Amino acid sequence: MERLIDPFARPISYLRVSVTDRCDFRCTYCMAEHMTFLPKKDLLTLEELDRLSSTFIRMGVEKLRITGGEPLVRRDIMQYFRAMSRHLESGALRELTLTTNGSQLARFADQLADCGIRRVNVSLDTLDPDKFREITRWGRLDQVLEGVRAATRAGMRVKINTVALKGFNEDELFTLLDWCAAEDHDLTFIEVMPMGEMGEEMRLDQYWPLKDLRGRLAERFTLTDLAERTGGPARYVRIEETGQKVGFITPLTHNFCESCNRVRVTCTGELFMCLGQEDMADLRAPLRASPDDALLEEAIRAAIARKPKGHDFDYSRQTVRGQVSRHMSHTGG
Ligand code: SAM
Repeated sequence: MERLIDPFARPISYLRVSVTDRCDFRCTYCMAEHMTFLPKKDLLTLEELDRLSSTFIRMGVEKLRITGGEPLVRRDIMQYFRAMSRHLESGALRELTLTTNGSQLARFADQLADCGIRRVNVSLDTLDPDKFREITRWGRLDQVLEGVRAATRAGMRVKINTVALKGFNEDELFTLLDWCAAEDHDLTFIEVMPMGEMGEEMRLDQYWPLKDLRGRLAERFTLTDLAERTGGPARYVRIEETGQKVGFITPLTHNFCESCNRVRVTCTGELFMCLGQEDMADLRAPLRASPDDALLEEAIRAAIARKPKGHDFDYSRQTVRGQVSRHMSHTGG
């Protein structure tokens, strides 16, 4: 089958799929405490998720990242991971991975490793149990740390993703770094975006630009920029003194557009071609219209033909920030 290539000659090799809008945490920067979730009929079924992901894989996707909401709270989700592992076995898929809050990892780590998952991203903003409860509202730090240990024991590499929050985890910068070094986890910082229930004032208070965070690291360590590119908004440095690799994700910058190889699908089957643009294609209708995948393939090709060159927007505009954050909440970061 002809591979998916967009109008700017970028092959589409990375797909991020959100399998649920539900989560067992209520991180203040992400969700309101009392959320109204989507009715079940709107969500893609596990079979539909399989058909959709497998179609993208036939069309050239080699890396599949599962996200949410919290992917591991979706009922019977292991059925989907097991189904996807057949593409690893066939060699069509190079990597199957997930982004999780870690709360259910202790339960699922062995099964995930059995499905061929080698790396998992765990979101963790603090190592202080009280602060953890404060930021996640409903989460327990010990449960997540147990999940991280279970993942490591099962043979998976864990990357920690930390949202940088001024006045919240600023004082833990080196604690987090040292812990990751001791446990041999990679660490990536994410710049906070305006979402969740935080009021505008509090948000401004919590905005900690990653260039400032990087400056703080550079006061203590020698940082070398790494050429490594993922096609996404992450940049990496090596800390020469410890050999650690640290990543920085700045979702609102657009300096990665030229090499953008990725698209996202929400749990209702909306395909977003660009993090910074509203345009999307509904894949649920073609999935449900026919048991054969021809209509779905056609809809995917038509959408990729519209993938824009880049974000192409004025970052000072509030609407743009709102736009990107809507993407994050709908498509799992
Ligand atoms: N539940 C999973 C998890 O915790 O990783 C997957 C979904 S979560 C939306 C994906 C990532 O987005 C997490 O690392 C989370 O911290 C991040 N995120 C959520 N809201 C954000 C915001 N306002 N700014 C920056 N990152 C955010």
